[in-house]
Amino acid sequence: MSNNVIIFDTTLRDGEQSPGCAMSLAQKKRMAKALASLGVDVIEAGFAAASPDDFNAVASIARDIKGPTICALARCNDHDIREAGRALQEAEKKRIHVFIATSPLHREHKLKMTKEQVVTKAVAAVTLAKSFTADVEFSCEDALRTEKDFLAQVVEAAIAAGATTVNIPDTVGYTTPTEMFDTIHFLKTTVPNIKQAIISTHCHNDLGLAVANSLAAVEAGARQVECTLNGIGERAGNCALEEVVMAIKTRANHYGLDTGIRTEQILPSSRLLSAITGSVVPRNKAIIGDNAFAHASGIHQHGMLSHPETYEIMRPKSIGRIDTSLVLGKHSGRHALVDKIKELGFDTASEDIERIFADFKALADRKKHITDADIEALVFGQSSTGPWQLAQMQVTSGSGDTIASAAVVLVGPNGSEHREAATGDGPVDAAFKAIERAIGMEVHLEGLSVNSISEGIDAQGEAQVRVRYAGQNFHGRGTSTDIVAASVSAFMDVINRISRQMAKAS
Ligand SMILES: [Zn+2]
Repeated sequence: MSNNVIIFDTTLRDGEQSPGCAMSLAQKKRMAKALASLGVDVIEAGFAAASPDDFNAVASIARDIKGPTICALARCNDHDIREAGRALQEAEKKRIHVFIATSPLHREHKLKMTKEQVVTKAVAAVTLAKSFTADVEFSCEDALRTEKDFLAQVVEAAIAAGATTVNIPDTVGYTTPTEMFDTIHFLKTTVPNIKQAIISTHCHNDLGLAVANSLAAVEAGARQVECTLNGIGERAGNCALEEVVMAIKTRANHYGLDTGIRTEQILPSSRLLSAITGSVVPRNKAIIGDNAFAHASGIHQHGMLSHPETYEIMRPKSIGRIDTSLVLGKHSGRHALVDKIKELGFDTASEDIERIFADFKALADRKKHITDADIEALVFGQSSTGPWQLAQMQVTSGSGDTIASAAVVLVGPNGSEHREAATGDGPVDAAFKAIERAIGMEVHLEGLSVNSISEGIDAQGEAQVRVRYAGQNFHGRGTSTDIVAASVSAFMDVINRISRQMAKAS
């Protein structure tokens, strides 16, 4: 059996369909490029039959992203599979991923199908998918709540029909590590043609076990893990790519396995995703959280100074966390900026250096030392655009008997100007109200926080806003050296995310 674990990334499909993570076409393409640089083996680009936008995203990633296999998801019906095949047409390497639910609950209540009907449908789907590409993955949705004998029967039939990967997903995040191990072991020892396919797993994190369950599957012989960056995905999310990859790497002595991931790209890719979705990683999150490598206790610090391995199982550098002494400022040129962007792990060929350099110069006029965090913020700066732009804003903060007020000029989707003013409890509240009025949209503000993302009195502030609109959660973020401006830019970010999602839905 191979020592290589295939990393199947579903950030753009399972991740993107989760609440608050919707991405525009440009954002999906940018993320797909980052995933290719990260070295994932397969990019699941979307569900082609879901909507024309999803179709275009898959087709455009298939056309432009080289390196990884590009995969499209399809239910076991002719229309879905043909759309997937059509969307993947221009891919260098393509895979169609078909799925059908196999558990009794799903068969009886959702599909209203017998076991035999499920097998027949699975076989027909794999056969049709094979007419578009030799690389076909078959998934038994809710596999871990499926009768074991029936699971083995479906898997055998799918492989016989030509499936080259069989995926055993814990769709509802219900299983445990030993149960997962036993299931994969059972399939390996029971299904006669199992050697003709790669066993895969896809775990959800409802009980916080997605990574543990994926690793258990790997120990039992699975050689593909489906995962997402930052663990985003339906409900509590998916198996986190960075965690499963670093567990395999750090514990090579235990697993004896490897992945093709360029781990130094983990942090830049993870931060790009946060910037695109506007949802920020908790500080204590494994591998990628801000505190993941911070040692606060005196005993630990002393140990670290004597020998890093006393308390550090991974080097920060191995995931792309670097601290450099090169500080940029007003007099730094374009060349130094490009070097710094490269050093931070970004692919300078795919970044808009002109725009970043202009923003850099503007920031350098306001701020003496430009730090790594500042540069990252500049690179990510334009990740969320339109349809609304804030053209002008004036705020007065109230103190004593003055009332805080804000006046804004917004430019709308068709270039029309919208002017509004409002008063409020403080300048941020007033600005948010004025923006809502100008757009004619009312959102429910659930939270606003401002953190400094670089050091010093002239630090850049990063604002994060959480709002609810039409029963859904949305996140936005914005940066500026001025906290009111950072908050307003985060609010504009969230308004634009909502507008884009609404446009997509209608
Ligand atoms: Zn899933």
